[in-house]
Amino acid sequence: MAACGSNSLMWFRKGLRLHDNPALEYAAKGSKFLYPVFVIDPHYMEPDPTAFSTGSSKSGLNRIQFLLESLVDLDLSLKKLGSRLLVLKGDPGDVLIRCLKEWSIGKLCFEYDTELYYQALDEKVKTYASVTGVEIFSPVSHTLYNPADIIQKNGRSPPLSYQSFLKLAGQPSWASTPLSTAISSLPPIGNTGSFALSGVPTVRELGYGDLAEDERTPFKGGESEALKRLKESIANKEWIANFEKPKGDPSAFLKPATTVLSPYLKFGCLSSRYFYQCIQDIQKSVKKHTSPPVSLLGQLLWRDFFYTVAFGTPNFDQMKGNRICKQIPWKNDDELLAAWRDSRTGFPWIDAIMTQLRKWGWMHHLARHSVACFLTRGDLFVHWEKGRDVFERLLIDSDWAINNGNWLWLSCSSFFYQYNRIYSPISFGKKYDPAGNYIRHFLPVLKDMPKEYIYEPWTAPISVQRKAKCIIGLDYPKPVVSHDSASKECRMRLGEAYALNKKLNGLVSEEDLNNLRRKAGNESTILDSVSRNKKQKLFD
Ligand code: FAD
Repeated sequence: MAACGSNSLMWFRKGLRLHDNPALEYAAKGSKFLYPVFVIDPHYMEPDPTAFSTGSSKSGLNRIQFLLESLVDLDLSLKKLGSRLLVLKGDPGDVLIRCLKEWSIGKLCFEYDTELYYQALDEKVKTYASVTGVEIFSPVSHTLYNPADIIQKNGRSPPLSYQSFLKLAGQPSWASTPLSTAISSLPPIGNTGSFALSGVPTVRELGYGDLAEDERTPFKGGESEALKRLKESIANKEWIANFEKPKGDPSAFLKPATTVLSPYLKFGCLSSRYFYQCIQDIQKSVKKHTSPPVSLLGQLLWRDFFYTVAFGTPNFDQMKGNRICKQIPWKNDDELLAAWRDSRTGFPWIDAIMTQLRKWGWMHHLARHSVACFLTRGDLFVHWEKGRDVFERLLIDSDWAINNGNWLWLSCSSFFYQYNRIYSPISFGKKYDPAGNYIRHFLPVLKDMPKEYIYEPWTAPISVQRKAKCIIGLDYPKPVVSHDSASKECRMRLGEAYALNKKLNGLVSEEDLNNLRRKAGNESTILDSVSRNKKQKLFD
């Protein structure tokens, strides 16, 4: 069939919402039929039994569940407007091209995405569309700014500091014009021909069993939930006006200290621009409010900052070939990595946070700081890319630009270079939660440990351990390292690596890194796997 101008296709990927959705609005305008499509990519969704946690090869089950809930909610909202979500399965590029052909689509609309995966996918679909004369509308609406504009303004390279980003970015062009928050009607869906359409599948239909109740994230996906959560947050004007990021309590879990809107922003169930306008309205209505970088608006600007740098930096997600990343001789120690990942480091603060990650898929920003610092430059000296992979899989808000950006930051590989400032896995959490309630909640094995020992249970006399029904080394692990000596060694290694990066102007080869590894190897207290068992006694 020839392309027909009156049929349009709205391709949902992120942007799973009706409010502030310029691609959807444009798709609806002047179209006889509108096909709202979501393509399930088997790589993203289907079970991978070889992965370290339940889920697909790319994502843990909590995030898959969150996405499915978001799709169900979107489908319900579309139904209220006389439409529905057409769920298809297969390689998204191939499926889309088939849709364009079979449904005589004249207009293809989708939200622009800066992520590498979507850039490649979009190229394929755009090439087909331009050959066949299909109009494409792909607006930027996932972020506050168009990262390409900022990069252009900065002489074609991304700004590398938050302050220079703010200067270039200025007030967003749309900030004082109310965004469209409601769609009153949508064109009907046309004939869907030979397509095998399904409703939104359940996790069971995708081949998973249900997650146990205590393994499931308490956060439910979808635009309705996002708007409800936003409404609850902004109802407390004073809280929004006085928001000051580093002051939040990372151990607060009954009522988290921040908005927990990140998973909704990740999937675009919430528009960051709408969120921005809501905060802006509050700021205008109060006498005094905090400012970036610490304010809530400042948090959204951090998001855009990382999107911009990520978009303009080749190999942003790796150390090699990444010009903004220090070359550091990280260890590739799978045992230490697994101990960290599986909450077996023997440091309750770290293990509780990693349990919250596995069960909830979300932790407070400073909790993320603690575990990322511990794995990399603070204690274990394991490569930041390995930690990044674990977060990427398990976070329900896992976001390519923000996750990589923050791992670069926390490992002192980029953006932040004060490697002497290390989070203590013992005293940092204690400052906020001296009784250890957060630890007791996420690590019930330690629930009866007296508060004097809850952050360092290996120091508890055996009689206390017996009484608490938790023998260290048996019921809960001994610490994998001595924090004092491990952090000292990490500082020394970072110092050497920084000096080498400076000397060679960043052009550090694999051989140079291996030389540093060899030099450090002999005196290491950050144990190699082989010697760990022998040396474990050290930390008894
Ligand atoms: P709030 O404090 O309520 O902030 C509102 C929004 O601002 C957030 O939802 C988020 O979109 C944005 N924001 C806040 N802090 C940051 C930040 N440091 N960088 C960029 N944007 C920010 N955030 C993700 O959304 N996805 C990730 O994959 C991710 N990985 C991280 C990895 C590490 C190692 C660290 C240290 C942080 C990571 N963050 C990530 C950033 C931050 O921790 C979360 O955005 C935040 O904790 C989410 O909770 P919230 O929505 O309650 O945040």
